[in-house]
Amino acid sequence: MKGALANITEAVGHTPIVKLQRIGQGLAADIYVKCEYLNPGGSHKDRVASNMLRRAEQAGLTPGGTIVEATSGNTGAALALQAAIHGYTCVFVMPDKMSQEKISSLRAFGARVVVCPTAVEPDDPRSYYQVAKRIAAESTNCFYANQYHNPANPEAHYLSTGPEIWEQTLGECDVFAAGMGTGGTISGVGKYLKEKRPDTTILGVDPVGSLYYDFVKSGRITKPFTYKVEGIGEDFFPSTMNLKIIDDIVRVDDKECFLMTRDLVRLEGLYVGGSGGAAVAGAIKYAEASGKKQNILVLLPDSAQKYLSKIFNDEWMRENGFLDETSGLGTVRDLLAGKPSHIVTAHPSDSVRDVVGSLKSLGISQLPVLDGGKLRGIVHEVDLLRHLVSGEGTLDSPIATLVESDYATVTPSTKIELLQSVLSDAKIAIVTEGETLVGIVTKIDLIDFLSKRAPLAAVRPPTPLA
Ligand code: PMP
Repeated sequence: MKGALANITEAVGHTPIVKLQRIGQGLAADIYVKCEYLNPGGSHKDRVASNMLRRAEQAGLTPGGTIVEATSGNTGAALALQAAIHGYTCVFVMPDKMSQEKISSLRAFGARVVVCPTAVEPDDPRSYYQVAKRIAAESTNCFYANQYHNPANPEAHYLSTGPEIWEQTLGECDVFAAGMGTGGTISGVGKYLKEKRPDTTILGVDPVGSLYYDFVKSGRITKPFTYKVEGIGEDFFPSTMNLKIIDDIVRVDDKECFLMTRDLVRLEGLYVGGSGGAAVAGAIKYAEASGKKQNILVLLPDSAQKYLSKIFNDEWMRENGFLDETSGLGTVRDLLAGKPSHIVTAHPSDSVRDVVGSLKSLGISQLPVLDGGKLRGIVHEVDLLRHLVSGEGTLDSPIATLVESDYATVTPSTKIELLQSVLSDAKIAIVTEGETLVGIVTKIDLIDFLSKRAPLAAVRPPTPLA
């Protein structure tokens, strides 16, 4: 019949761009969203799956073979859809923090799903990356999609999403904002838009706990920690992520992501998932700070459908402290309120002698190092000691080469419960608001806060500190 597509994979792309009406009112900028959640497989990954499979077939994969992927769900759904049409079998490996809806939807396509622990290092043999690799190595006529390192991932957005945005907006998109997982979206779209209009601002949005933000801001690989928003942020650097394409990056916490996600559905009728809420929350922070009259386009990756039992479930939201201001042990802001507000810092050109003097007089073990007001890392007494003992430097050497990254960055609204697990892994937590250093929290600060807050017996047993 005329007008019909040959199959559903031909419906990938051509998603609408919509202007936000109620959210972001009062901003000088106009915020627009690209509704990638309306793709047939439910996300922007339909474009990626289609391009990865095209490239795999060019490299010799034939129908009847197996597609293996380490996926948080959306790439799985997209590959499963392609597999159904083109005659492949799928095996998906994913971390256990993923929602039940995502797992069930993959099984609905007839795929095999293998669930692995989240709380292990990426190179641990139990991690979902490693398990996927092993399954792929053991199968024949098999394609390991490997979206974190497959150039066909960013290429999909360079060949499809980028040109589509350019045509739809007639080149009027001033800022393109997206969350970053594999980085395929931002790297591919960013490359295309910058080629067309080099002054386009590419804005990355990163959840608190991910590595990207600190790396872009300070060049340091800090300690990542877990967060609830799915699909964005990483604890390693995928080769599909081109951080050089990013002009600016903003950080969002789980609570602001989820409240924005709910608002997008309720106030704008946009049925989006948590990473879409994160990207809009980040874009609004950027617009507030810049104050410019600009067209900001935000990519909405996937649909609310997959998060009904989490973001759209009041009980889950409350249990996690995302609805009630007063629940739980409080936030880092409460902890800082009980500490002196003056923060002693060091500069990379300060001498070892001066820093040792400061540590001694203040009775502390480390100092944050700032250069031009920007956080460059920390210097710790252990590093100073190692420097002196090695005999390679003197008390007059500058501390620049001793600055290290054994810290995590949090925000004033980070919950104390989360801070407990952050400090079990990192030496200290550095508190930043935007780019401004607003405090430092050590393990003893946390113990002090918890013990003053309530009689010790009444305090929930803290996560053991290292
Ligand atoms: N949002 C969701 C829900 C995702 O699954 C992903 C992919 N991990 C992203 C955003 C990020 O997209 P990309 O991998 O292209 O950076």
